[in-house]
Amino acid sequence: MNGKDCIFCKVVSGEIPSDRVYEDEDCVAFNDLHPQAPTHILVVPRIHIDSLDTVDEVQKNLVGHLLLVSAGIARNKGFSDEGYRIVINTNRDGGQTVFHLHVHLLAGRPFVFPPG
Ligand code: AMP
Ligand code: ZN
Repeated sequence: MNGKDCIFCKVVSGEIPSDRVYEDEDCVAFNDLHPQAPTHILVVPRIHIDSLDTVDEVQKNLVGHLLLVSAGIARNKGFSDEGYRIVINTNRDGGQTVFHLHVHLLAGRPFVFPPG
């Protein structure tokens, strides 16, 4: 899919409202609509990328940036010591439902591994 009918492209543009917690020139972070933990934030690139599976070599800095932004938000919220879970669901078996690359930052409770 391209970005035209993409939910997260619309969140980035502001067409769909969101509860933003951070943004910079490359990404936007907002609270998940259906939180699975006391803190559940999504970090998405401003550009449309379908999934981790379609990231190319020139976008590797962007993916690194999404991860460091996620870790920075967790640190700023005081989760460094307790820890947190970073998830990138990818395609069908990975449980991806929105096909615009996003990092889940989950925190505020313990997480089991492996996940279901
Ligand atoms: P995934 O299943 O990894 O593709 O995750 C998609 C996530 O997006 C889910 O956790 C949804 O709750 C969340 N979500 C879907 N639409 C919105 C929205 N408009 N604002 C915030 N979160 C959303
Ligand atoms: Zn998109």
